[in-house]
Amino acid sequence: MAFTLKLNDEYLLPAIVCDQCGEIVTAGGFHLSRLTPDQSISSEQPAHQVCGEACYEAFVSAQPLDDEWFAIPLDAYLANLVRSLNIDPDAVLAREQALTASEHTRDEGPE
Ligand SMILES: [Zn+2]
Repeated sequence: MAFTLKLNDEYLLPAIVCDQCGEIVTAGGFHLSRLTPDQSISSEQPAHQVCGEACYEAFVSAQPLDDEWFAIPLDAYLANLVRSLNIDPDAVLAREQALTASEHTRDEGPE
């Protein structure tokens, strides 16, 4: 699992790191899951993210031969996750910005 946080000035921003090459994964990357030999989704659910098709091919070819993997476009995986969790991105970001603003006001206020 390659979900991580990057420090950008004073803010921690979420990022996804490619499990194959270590670069930051953009919306064009893929979420990978493993299939069991009977073609169902593995109960262990190892999940990986890669930055593109070349890293997908390299990742899969480095796995044991009897493993089968499938790739979901990362944007589709995340969009469906957001929907299934009933997350309203605009409302969440507004809440986070208001929280950050109130913390800054408190930090900069007189003592
Ligand atoms: Zn990569």
